Amino acid sequence: MNRPRLAIVGLTACSGCQLSLVNCEAELPLLLEQVQFELFPMACSPVQMAEQYDVALVEGCCTTAHEVELLRELRSRSHLLVALGTCALWGGVATLRSDTPRQQLLSQVYGPHPPLDDGLPRPLSAYVAVDAALPGCPPEKKELLALLVDLVRGNLPPAGVSPVCTDCRMRENLCLLQERNQLCLGPLTLGGCDARCPSLGVPCEGCRGPAPEANLAEALAVYQQKGFDQQTVTARLQRFCPEWCHG
Ligand code: SF4
Ligand code: SF4
Repeated sequence: MNRPRLAIVGLTACSGCQLSLVNCEAELPLLLEQVQFELFPMACSPVQMAEQYDVALVEGCCTTAHEVELLRELRSRSHLLVALGTCALWGGVATLRSDTPRQQLLSQVYGPHPPLDDGLPRPLSAYVAVDAALPGCPPEKKELLALLVDLVRGNLPPAGVSPVCTDCRMRENLCLLQERNQLCLGPLTLGGCDARCPSLGVPCEGCRGPAPEANLAEALAVYQQKGFDQQTVTARLQRFCPEWCHG
């Protein structure tokens, strides 16, 4: 059986999502029997882009015109394209909004700078069709391996729907929002992380982006009862997903 040919490429990001794959040390030998890493600059010697890939896993968002061009090239050569991690899926911290124009910020930090493309930075779906996505900052190892198994079998991974609170209740954690009055974004954030942060007594920061089943209006009402105004909650939500609360 031919092994699926994978391209794993990073755009603007911290490389943590690719590193999650490299860190699957125990599983990599078995994985390499099932897939070919044809393009994986982080882990393999550099090679030219091939004519065709079965799957491209893309980490990060587009912050330059060159990255948009690279993404479109990869899309045209790949049967499936998967957004790997929150930056690829939602934009992540590279797309944080600020009231100060980016051009001004760049000039202040780096000196005179060529004009920016105002449309950037954006997540992958702003430029190309995305067939599947794995949220997380970075994605959980078990989800990453499950995604690869699905892809080897020719399936697309099922999209998650339930919020972090579901995971948190399954772990029988004390509720940081209800019992400690802490601003925990678990009610709105896509689960799948086993409530990693609340289980350690740290409120959820929303790193996996919006949960489709979340009830935004209801959650905002609860936050308000707890003393958090909408502006504070929205600013926190938009750290990882600028489109959150913008429809
Ligand atoms: S601690 Fe956070 S994630 Fe856990 S149940 Fe409470 S609000 Fe939800
Ligand atoms: S609890 Fe929230 S911040 Fe922590 S890993 Fe899960 S989604 Fe991310």
